Amino acid sequence: METYKVSKEEKIEKNLSEIKSDIDITYYIQDYSDIQDADDVYEIIRDNNGFDAEVIYYSTAISYLTEHDPSLTESLGIAEEFGYTIDNLNSETLASLLKSRHLEDEFEDLRSEINDACNVEDSFFCGCCEIEYDDENEADECCEPTEE
Ligand SMILES: [Zn+2]
Repeated sequence: METYKVSKEEKIEKNLSEIKSDIDITYYIQDYSDIQDADDVYEIIRDNNGFDAEVIYYSTAISYLTEHDPSLTESLGIAEEFGYTIDNLNSETLASLLKSRHLEDEFEDLRSEINDACNVEDSFFCGCCEIEYDDENEADECCEPTEE
């Protein structure tokens, strides 16, 4: 029976796809061979504008703000950080800023889970009994009859 390999990249993809979050993490990743840890995942999402939420329509913005920041303290604080002034702010901008911040916060909350998801190595499976090995030769020899 043939030994078969499940690569580190395949495992990372599967692990990340199983993490529940508002960001579709695997949507942004093209090449899993570049990924070592959550910092790499963060950079890829950021570089693809994955944290830049855009809330459109006044009514959607108002309901988002009402639900998440009824006093507007948090969203106005973020707007101030980014140098917005009253004359270039509206509810859609505030809601977008707040939602973007929440996506980043969620990522931070998932950071250790994402690190764990990336902390894997290639595995080799005996095609006969499907026992998993770190070493390809061990998997090859698993169900082979021993030579006398
Ligand atoms: Zn075996």
